Amino acid sequence: EVYSVAFNANLDPSKLTVTQTDTPKPLPEPSSLVFGQTMTDHMLVMSFDPETGWTVPVIQPYQPLQLDPASSCFQYCPNVFEGMKAYLGPDGEPRLFRPDLNMRRMELSVDRVALPPIDGHALLKLIKKLVIVDKRWIPSQSGYSLYIRPTIIGTRPALGVAASSHALLYVIMSPTGPYFPTGPKPVSLLAVHENVRSWPGGTGGFKLGLNYAPAFEPQRRAAEKGYMQILWLLGHEGERRITEAGQMNFFAVVKREDGDLDLVTPPLDGTILPGVTRNSVLALAASHSPLTPLPNITPSQRINTHEKPITMSDLTMWYSSGLLLEVFCVGTAVTVASVGRIGYEGKDMILADESRMALGVVAGAISEKIIAIQEGRFQWEGWS
Ligand code: PMP
Repeated sequence: EVYSVAFNANLDPSKLTVTQTDTPKPLPEPSSLVFGQTMTDHMLVMSFDPETGWTVPVIQPYQPLQLDPASSCFQYCPNVFEGMKAYLGPDGEPRLFRPDLNMRRMELSVDRVALPPIDGHALLKLIKKLVIVDKRWIPSQSGYSLYIRPTIIGTRPALGVAASSHALLYVIMSPTGPYFPTGPKPVSLLAVHENVRSWPGGTGGFKLGLNYAPAFEPQRRAAEKGYMQILWLLGHEGERRITEAGQMNFFAVVKREDGDLDLVTPPLDGTILPGVTRNSVLALAASHSPLTPLPNITPSQRINTHEKPITMSDLTMWYSSGLLLEVFCVGTAVTVASVGRIGYEGKDMILADESRMALGVVAGAISEKIIAIQEGRFQWEGWS
């Protein structure tokens, strides 16, 4: 009885307490930043106990956690995270990009591993407070931002295999620079079917820590063969469907007979992470019209968006008939990256010159627009 009452007890942002650090760190030189290595001065923390519900949320100096070694996060991995960024606008104010989508995705991920439910609206209010507390850490240069990593781990201190009745929710932040410091280098992908990232009914559609470790060894092998990321396939020979590329969603631009373009991405069938960037790319591509054209795309040329399965046979056929104009990948870390080369069964599809620091026409147009919205230089649909 007590358990079910507390289990529904929401975290209360109005009770937040803030303890500022006495020893603020010197800010790093932005050009020296390596992704995810430098943390800001503060973190947000709260925990859930089934008898008392969520503790009062606290912003405190960044510090190590203390956990019981039997905590379920170390054993059965009921661990959820999110990845989002705060950008400094021309007015000097920080902006988040569509954080409501990250919060909704986090609620669904939490539910998938039966962690105590969270209230994404309440959490977002607290994240905004944390960003304000560490605002000086947001680099002001274009292409730079503050990466935000909300995390929830199961802390039930017992070895029985069961859902975690206890949880720790914390948010840490890290200043970050452009994914490609020297310009938008096309990425190379190795299409892999011997290992799979996700499967129907599995967890690929959720942002769970347990989805990532199994990719490390295949990723190492791909790197040894000279490819930057894995293109994850799913299915049997002849119908191998593309799911995602590394930690990015996948798009192909295909020329139609009528001269218009098809922008195709795999559907959200549970095997693909519902990316915030993916959703934004689809919306911006659909908005391209003679009245509101994307940069550098002929206003009268239509971009037809499709969320539908793409098999390796589709991709090979478009490629060999000269219809495959561009392939690109999208995600919070990179925003948009063009694909230069895809290796599959010992052969390479060459899509762009890997030595040329450039995005494809459609990738470039969409990237420019998204970054302008993120950095507060362009207002769009309340996305910032
Ligand atoms: N796929 C996977 C597996 C990811 O980890 C990410 C990064 N969150 C993405 C796609 C891109 O999602 P988003 O645009 O929300 O960053």
